[in-house]
Amino acid sequence: MSNYKFSEIVNHLVVSGFVFPSSQIYGGLANVWDYGPLGAELKKNIKQIWHREFIQKIPCNVLIDTAIFMNKKVWQATGHVNAFNDPMVECKNCKSRYRADYLIKKNFNNENVNNMSFDEINNFLKNNNIKCENCSKINNFTDVKKFNMMFAVDFATTRSSNENIFLRPETAQGVFVNFKNVYRSMRKKIPFGICNHGKSFRNEITLGNFIFRTKEFEQLETEFFCEPGTDDQWFAYWKQKCFDFINLLGIKKEKVRFRDHEKSELSFYSKETVDIEYNFPSIGWSEILGIANRTDYDLKRHSEYSKENLKYNDLNNSYFPYCIEPSIGLDRLMLTILVDGFDKENVNGDERIVMHINPLLSPYKVVVLPLSKDLSKIAREIFDELSKKIMCIYDESGSIGKRYRRADAIGVPFAITIDNETISDDKVTVRDRDTMKQKRILKTEIYNFIANILKNY
Ligand code: ATP
Repeated sequence: MSNYKFSEIVNHLVVSGFVFPSSQIYGGLANVWDYGPLGAELKKNIKQIWHREFIQKIPCNVLIDTAIFMNKKVWQATGHVNAFNDPMVECKNCKSRYRADYLIKKNFNNENVNNMSFDEINNFLKNNNIKCENCSKINNFTDVKKFNMMFAVDFATTRSSNENIFLRPETAQGVFVNFKNVYRSMRKKIPFGICNHGKSFRNEITLGNFIFRTKEFEQLETEFFCEPGTDDQWFAYWKQKCFDFINLLGIKKEKVRFRDHEKSELSFYSKETVDIEYNFPSIGWSEILGIANRTDYDLKRHSEYSKENLKYNDLNNSYFPYCIEPSIGLDRLMLTILVDGFDKENVNGDERIVMHINPLLSPYKVVVLPLSKDLSKIAREIFDELSKKIMCIYDESGSIGKRYRRADAIGVPFAITIDNETISDDKVTVRDRDTMKQKRILKTEIYNFIANILKNY
């Protein structure tokens, strides 16, 4: 497998129906994307495996689903109103805006920028000749400003009033504000986790790289509450769990690494943070997910601001639990899976694009292919039976080779071909997407055959 250009993969994902530019018929909206039929299925499948691994198989964890709109005080308590800022500079000439740390990283390949304060970033920019990417003026930026990343929206019910609240920039706070509701109603004992998932919104200054960084994205977050003193041990547990999850999804191990946050880079609430990064083509090593030890910061702050006692009580103790947070960006994880699975192979002089993705994640598990239109009736019957249990496509147009290629290009793991012999022996040919090996099996055995393979993932 070779390295492909990021733009080539993106083009394939758009053309084949994974992702579309949003509101495309009106010229689109910069850096906003819609998930097409394949993307929507893939997303759903990733969420299902996340649910299985983080909730179903961990009985002390539960799932909630909280509102995007939250009381404004939530974000005052957490510090987001004052401190959820990125360092922004503007070109004095053409007014293009940049994230100052990204400019430094890009121009000087300087990873240390993660550890720099806003003042240090400012000094570095002033003392180094960086070009505006739009108008090419050199060293012509404003001072670094703090740019708050939360979107304010007017929540008023009448046009005459004005009541700004924020779109949530993370799903985590939906958990903290419901901590007491959950532990009381579900009679939870420490340690336990509350998972939350859904859309989050950040007014990012520098966007791009397709669905890697967008203003609207989806998160899969777990807030795991434990007794202070046991937090380091649980941090290690969740670090490993997240790594195992990435492996389970089938992402190549050699393209994944941990990156510990330096002390100076840590968010103000964090005792320890580690990212899992993937080595993307063109972009390089970049974060897919993060695991943070948020300490007791959030529950303490919400107690203070809401005047509600959010301590955990057991028979002998009353305390603010520490919280370990594995926070996964669903869109980034999806991009990772697609980039990692994309491949081009030479098959007898022909090129095939193939998405080698974990079959459990594949939008469609099976393509049903009658060799000729005369066999459609029997092929339709097979399709109708299979589609009661798994996602299938029916395809009878074009040569069999072309139909295989179409299915390979969207990652369908199994192709079932119905030929004339099927009429007499009740057997079909199953072709494996990755090895292209074929096997004849009874048509009544198709589902069991596939289910047996899928259960190993
Ligand atoms: P980054 O450093 O890339 O801005 P972050 O450290 O601010 O990310 P977190 O606050 O830890 O991100 O959010 C958890 C996860 O949410 C990230 O690992 C990422 O996968 C995802 N995420 C965060 N911001 C975005 C975004 N603008 N677009 C897409 N996904 C995002």
